[in-house]
Amino acid sequence: MPFMRADEMAELALRRVAASGAEYGDIRFLKSTIQTITGEDRRIASIRDSEDSGFGIRVLYHGGWGFAASSVLSLEEVPRLADLAVEIARGSASLANEKMRLVDEPVHRDGVVTPHRIDPFTVPLDQKSALLCEVMDQVQLQPEVVRSSARLWARRDRKLFMSTEGTRLEFDLLAVQGEFTATARYDGRFASRTCATPHLRMGYELIEAAKFPTHASRIASQAVEKVKAPAVRPGQYDLVLDPEHLALTMHESCGHPSELDRALGYEANYAGTSFLTPEKRGTFRYGSPQVNLVADNTEPETLAATGYDDDGVSCQRWDIVREGLFVGYCTNREVASKIGETRSRGSNRADSWGSVPIVRIANIGLEPGSASLDDLLADVKRGIYIEGHGSYSIDQRRYNFQFGGDAFWLIENGKRTHMLRDVIYHGITPEFWNSCDGVADRRHRGRYGFITCGKGQPGQSGWMTHAASHARFRRVAVIKG
Ligand SMILES: [Zn+2]
Repeated sequence: MPFMRADEMAELALRRVAASGAEYGDIRFLKSTIQTITGEDRRIASIRDSEDSGFGIRVLYHGGWGFAASSVLSLEEVPRLADLAVEIARGSASLANEKMRLVDEPVHRDGVVTPHRIDPFTVPLDQKSALLCEVMDQVQLQPEVVRSSARLWARRDRKLFMSTEGTRLEFDLLAVQGEFTATARYDGRFASRTCATPHLRMGYELIEAAKFPTHASRIASQAVEKVKAPAVRPGQYDLVLDPEHLALTMHESCGHPSELDRALGYEANYAGTSFLTPEKRGTFRYGSPQVNLVADNTEPETLAATGYDDDGVSCQRWDIVREGLFVGYCTNREVASKIGETRSRGSNRADSWGSVPIVRIANIGLEPGSASLDDLLADVKRGIYIEGHGSYSIDQRRYNFQFGGDAFWLIENGKRTHMLRDVIYHGITPEFWNSCDGVADRRHRGRYGFITCGKGQPGQSGWMTHAASHARFRRVAVIKG
């Protein structure tokens, strides 16, 4: 454990919480280490190492929550903060018109370590910098590429969670990501293409396996083709969406509306509530029968697969949408009972020691179908193939949306032809997912992680991975962005 006498401090705090008459308390120590190396235009622009540690104590007293946090780890500070959290909880209990109650969870005593081959923090800076410089040099071999950038990122979270129920969980979690970008200029316009690994819970082997230099010339050529591409002609098109693009579409149109605190109206910050209200569960046709959206916080290497959430609930796999029918929510121990569930789905996470855990989107993914990508394309007369993320907007209930993308190709008579630019499609969430008539098989499955999902007040950044295979959507309205 990186925290001196953490168990002793935790037990001291939890004893005080229990003695106060509170029904529940937990303490979470967290030390986060982050390294980001950034390259710009063939040189290393910045190397940032940061470290942050502290602890937070949550108390539930007569149905009211209290939380207190501090970066001072000492045998004096911890009990002081425990008393403060109790006092705040007492205050909340006296004001609350609804008493909070936690659903049961077995007691867990466990340790979770991210499996990895190469610890990213042991790879020499010289080696990482040389990789970024090599790939930027190769990207800029293309004369029309006027800018290049590249980045490596790694984070380690060491955490100890203990509760008054007897749960004790110790974590050593890693996450890694890398990417590079080529920017081309033509006729006064600029366009970029990026080659990125997903953010995954792995070691530096993720970066090595990505073999960035072998992709440099393809990405550079695509940036040039993209900047010279003709603008799209507005109209109705069939869309074939790649896994990375679908990650964002799923995140916004399925992920956020399936957060139960939003659906109940408890959480309305950062783009609002949810159209997936509880009475729709089990009856609402969200998508076509090809659409199976599964939450899986147990899949190895994914961001939300941390073994246990910040309620001390073990990670699980469950259905959000089964054969097109809306069936499930992301929950925590507090909101699960509001829809009659007796156990939390284990999706309560905080982004730092100083943050209160809140309901977070799980690793929601689109289950693979049976088609190949060629099958999906073959049946399209006039369509657009979309890769990656672009601008998007979605309304307060996650109902009406529009999405861009990073790269677009015209599909004519079953074949991807040339690139297009300025494509934006819009729709209504259930109509869009009901227009899905094909999902590619497991060979086409890709995973994309988000580490900046904003929610809460004060704002927190959530982490989750969305997996999908390519999928086809019929007759979608496309405009010129
Ligand atoms: Zn989000």
